[in-house]
Amino acid sequence: MLVPIVGPVLAGDFVLDARDVKGRADFVAVVSRYTRLRRAGRQFVGLCPFHREQHPSFYVRPEKKIFFCFGCGSGGDLFDFVICVERCAFRRAVEIVAAFPGVGDSSGDEKSLLVENIGVSRHWMAHENDDMSSRYGSSSRRRSIP
Ligand SMILES: [Zn+2]
Repeated sequence: MLVPIVGPVLAGDFVLDARDVKGRADFVAVVSRYTRLRRAGRQFVGLCPFHREQHPSFYVRPEKKIFFCFGCGSGGDLFDFVICVERCAFRRAVEIVAAFPGVGDSSGDEKSLLVENIGVSRHWMAHENDDMSSRYGSSSRRRSIP
């Protein structure tokens, strides 16, 4: 059950949200928006988005959700990647990843990109849930089996 948050979102809550987002995110799908990856065994390799190169030295390990470039030495987790490639703050990076299909709210469209903070998004989702429960009624109104 989601509880609408009134006022500023606590840092702790936000970290929990970020962990959720990271858990659901498909690292390869996120990175593929910025560079083309191909599978190489258990990892993916592509041209590094952080430096110019002819031969791929940028590696992504999806099961660990980390990346590393042997060319320029950049590396980190999913959010580090988005922060570097988008040159944005941590909070913005979480929002960008949350906007990927199936990661943020159930609609999974660009709507969450427009949401300025996660608190607003939660509030919206809580109302969405209210709508759902009133639309589909209570469980007491079961059909009787003849
Ligand atoms: Zn690099």
